[in-house]
Amino acid sequence: MKIPFLIIGGGLSGLAAAIRFARFNPEVLILEKHHRIGGLNSYFFRNNQLFETGLHAITNYAAAKDRRAPLNRLLRQLKLSRDQFQFHQQIQSEIIFKGCASLSFSNDFAMIEEEIARKFPHCQDGFHRLVAFLHSFDPFTIAPFRSARQFLNRYIPDRLLVDMLLCPLMFYGSSIEEDMDLGQFAIMFRAIFLEGLFRPGGTVKDFLDVLLTHYRALGGSLRTGAEVSTILHTGGRIDGVVLATGETILCDCLLSTIGIEETLSLLGRPPLPQNSPRLGFVETIFQLQPALCPQLPEDRTIIFFNNSATFHYKKPDTAVDFTSGVICLPQNFAGLPPSTRQEIRSTHLASYDAWKELARDRHEYLAEKGKTADHSREVLSAITGDFSRAIVYHDTFTPLTIERYTAKKEGAIYGHPQKIKDGVLGCDNLFLAGTDQGFLGIIGSMLSGVSMVNQHMLARF
Ligand SMILES: Cc1cc2nc3c(=O)[nH]c(=O)nc-3n(C[C@H](O)[C@H](O)[C@H](O)COP(=O)(O)OP(=O)(O)OC[C@H]3O[C@@H](n4cnc5c(N)ncnc54)[C@H](O)[C@@H]3O)c2cc1C
Repeated sequence: MKIPFLIIGGGLSGLAAAIRFARFNPEVLILEKHHRIGGLNSYFFRNNQLFETGLHAITNYAAAKDRRAPLNRLLRQLKLSRDQFQFHQQIQSEIIFKGCASLSFSNDFAMIEEEIARKFPHCQDGFHRLVAFLHSFDPFTIAPFRSARQFLNRYIPDRLLVDMLLCPLMFYGSSIEEDMDLGQFAIMFRAIFLEGLFRPGGTVKDFLDVLLTHYRALGGSLRTGAEVSTILHTGGRIDGVVLATGETILCDCLLSTIGIEETLSLLGRPPLPQNSPRLGFVETIFQLQPALCPQLPEDRTIIFFNNSATFHYKKPDTAVDFTSGVICLPQNFAGLPPSTRQEIRSTHLASYDAWKELARDRHEYLAEKGKTADHSREVLSAITGDFSRAIVYHDTFTPLTIERYTAKKEGAIYGHPQKIKDGVLGCDNLFLAGTDQGFLGIIGSMLSGVSMVNQHMLARF
């Protein structure tokens, strides 16, 4: 039997593509390697409690009435209603460059405009011109790499402000060192500063359950524990896939959401040239006893910080670069019900190679994970107040953990430095969606899956 539409990967791009297709034709099958869907945006259980892996905050918040906003377009394309999720907006977030400046921002763009006017008055005009440019700029036109940093320098005559604006956009969506592609910058600027951050009510599992229930109700199929080991092709056309178990599944059309190099490898093709390293991260989740940490900020949702003289976003020489990072306080979204649990999560840049070397000795690897959690706690405590006494549980995941659970090469959350923006891979019935198509984050990856189905699949069936 031949499946009309096969999708490799049950992450958010695969799920969104599958739902979009299933609205018109239920003959779609997702093959997911892991025993659980969600990919980078998933969850795990420890001590009978659920911990989220990917979600700090969803970008691209939009009010229901803003029908053209990416969030509302996405919901319409998937035939999902806002009522199926409760959206909670960030309270406010902050960019802190130690000893230099801080900038607060919220889902009201006026807040960051006022902050810049007050703290960087000499940059105010340039910032307004930048925003006007971004409103008229189409970031989806396919173009060669253009440096966002060089572009920003033309508008903003202060390196500190350039770095402060780039810091959150890079941490939430740059696959390359020290810079971003201008198109990617424009997408992320809109996603984070112009639109803003929110999260769904409940947990990531609840969010994924809504998507999966909806997909199944439309008639779509999912197989978990189904790792694709080979993509079968003849004469520029895909015939199907072979699973790690040896089973062959034939298809008319294939969408891969697992990454460009990972897909080329399944095709038996050489990797793309890579002139910039993949970027890895470590993330530590600290679970806290709220009564023991009364001083944690209640008015900050995400804090992006840099403690060094110059901000660097690059693969570190050591296992972890603690000089910068992201702090997420997931309880600080407006309107969340009070919880007996509190968490604080940290993200820092990390070196896959260093962790791989450490993993040659399991004890050394685990000891380094412990040291990473301790060091991260100290760095965070200097910003949020000391929460050491309140920690009841913590877990650290490294680039190796991410690679192990999502098969993302080198655990690079944002994938290959080079993106295939049109998703075309040189076979007329194979397409790429997700991270390596250049749409990053939760909303980006979901829109990517939907757009590939709209452009390439719906007309065929
Ligand atoms: C720590 C962390 C924090 C994050 N924070 C945020 C945030 O705050 N906001 C935000 O918007 N985004 C965040 N993200 C990013 C976001 O989760 C991802 O951008 C998004 O989920 C990517 O979805 P995807 O479908 O493109 O890829 P993936 O999630 O990688 O999905 C690919 C799927 O393919 C499967 N797969 C791989 N190989 C095979 C194979 N051979 N056969 C079958 N299946 C296979 C994988 O198991 C995976 O499920 C974060 C990610 C992490 C890890």
